[in-house]
Amino acid sequence: MKTLGLIGGMSWESTAIYYRFLNEIVRERLGGLHSAKLLLWSFDFAEIAERQHAGDWEGAGVLLVAAARKLEAGGAQGLVVCTNTMHKLADAVQATISIPLIHIADATGQAVAATGMKRPALLATRFTMEQDFYKGRLADKYDLQPVVPDQAGRDMVHKVIYDELCQGIVRSESKSAYLDEVGRMRRDDGVDGVIMGCTEITMLIGQGDFDIPVFDTTRIHAEAAVDFALA
Ligand code: GLU
Repeated sequence: MKTLGLIGGMSWESTAIYYRFLNEIVRERLGGLHSAKLLLWSFDFAEIAERQHAGDWEGAGVLLVAAARKLEAGGAQGLVVCTNTMHKLADAVQATISIPLIHIADATGQAVAATGMKRPALLATRFTMEQDFYKGRLADKYDLQPVVPDQAGRDMVHKVIYDELCQGIVRSESKSAYLDEVGRMRRDDGVDGVIMGCTEITMLIGQGDFDIPVFDTTRIHAEAAVDFALA
């Protein structure tokens, strides 16, 4: 089994879920006392979120690259960046290390394409919903047409992520707002699935809330990372 280097803490709420998923998946596959071999770099998320909201992606990139190099130097054989949003910097990070970065949008794109769904709703941070690094990759490499909420919907989804989920707050009103938004997108935009494109959204909603396929990027990314580690 290879050792995975995790860049986490973005937020730690979802990194804790990654830690559980990675270990559970290794146990499912190898049985007994087996568990994942992991190194974790965990950021103070306030320092990252501040740079995101100031548009200082270069500054955030410096921090991510430093973390990736430390994980590689520490013996990591594959890199897992435990957030969708920070994959905006995936290529820049990959260029500075010699171990592979296991890309969350590739794992997700493959999972969606395998079901035959074409127009998934993409619920994520404003950065992931509005910029091209994620949607563009899903479109170009996997022939998908991800659909994002309208402006009011994007504001609501983003605010719930940063003001609630990343702070460990899970509210039934926010769950209803997410379900209503997807309902509206099914009616108005013909979406045929839901990408939970932020690694904390798994705290709020899941497949049980929908009768269309739901793609939990935290779970999908963890599965891809274990595939790599055990290959
Ligand atoms: N974990 C979230 C994501 O998957 C949001 C926090 C972040 O900006 O990294 O995008």
